[in-house]
Amino acid sequence: MAQPVIEIENLVKRYKELVALDHLNLTIKQGEVFGLLGPNGSGKTTAINCMLALLYFDKGSIRVFGKEMQPDSYDMKRQIGVVLQNVAVFEELTVQENIDYFCGLYIKEKAVRKQYVEEAIVFSGLEDFRKFYPRKLSGGLLRRLNIACGIAHKPKLIIMDEPTVAVDPQSRNRILEGILKLNHEGATIIYTSHYMEEIEQICSRIAILDGGKCIASGTKEELKSMIKTGEKIHLEAWDLTTEQLEGVRRLNHVYQVDYQEGMLEIRCSGGRHNLVHILDYMTRQEITFSRVHSELPTLNDVFLEITGKELRDSLE
Ligand code: ADP
Ligand code: MG
Repeated sequence: MAQPVIEIENLVKRYKELVALDHLNLTIKQGEVFGLLGPNGSGKTTAINCMLALLYFDKGSIRVFGKEMQPDSYDMKRQIGVVLQNVAVFEELTVQENIDYFCGLYIKEKAVRKQYVEEAIVFSGLEDFRKFYPRKLSGGLLRRLNIACGIAHKPKLIIMDEPTVAVDPQSRNRILEGILKLNHEGATIIYTSHYMEEIEQICSRIAILDGGKCIASGTKEELKSMIKTGEKIHLEAWDLTTEQLEGVRRLNHVYQVDYQEGMLEIRCSGGRHNLVHILDYMTRQEITFSRVHSELPTLNDVFLEITGKELRDSLE
């Protein structure tokens, strides 16, 4: 059994009247790329700040590496790399000097530090920018510098809070690949995002947050098997009659049918070959159709079925 790296029990955090974390429970094990997915305001950053003992909380407990985290737990903090949501680097220092500064907080030996700084520069693809000051960097490069500063000292646990917000696709891919590389080299990763595609792409386990609560957790396969939707089928077909729509509704495994402006959306629960049966029905009814498209459920469907809201709609 992998050791738990973080254990959060019944965590409650209030900002005056507002309950930002409402009895949150989470366990993150060694070796995971653990995703915290939730809309803006769901409590991701608050949870991370509590884990790092940057914030006092009202109730519950947090154990990091099996021990209670305290504001002065410097030995534990040394083993954690943090990439905060808001970029935090020194404007007066160059790219290389910034990374060296943060690495130097943990790594005293000069030769080792030099090597680590170089590795972080290569890792984040900043070789051509080492002498640049932060204000000269694009948004994506600045994010990459922020990450390099957080991971240069080779921490065992890396916490990243929305590291890809507002970055170009090239930097985004580079960051995601980099995270997997750090994980392969042995680091446990906690990754927060409101982009469900990213979370699906890199996380081995996911907790979905809403209103400061963990509403579901598991691997992406486990999360998707919790919900009724097994497959969504879209097709274009004009002038369907009420009887024909009823006929589609009565097909095996079909549990929801929406029909608007010639687009038919059919949700099926489990079952195989749903598309074949539906197309077969359309043919028998001599209905002309086009633009057939079938998709498996996304994490948005999971969020929608549990909360009744679209994850996508609650963004930005
Ligand atoms: P997320 O990171 O998922 O977007 P946050 O943890 O930042 O969510 O916020 C959770 C809730 O707490 C939100 O309703 C937010 O407005 C509120 N909040 C966050 N930080 C503060 C603060 N310093 N003071 C008051 N309310 C806050
Ligand atoms: Mg946040």
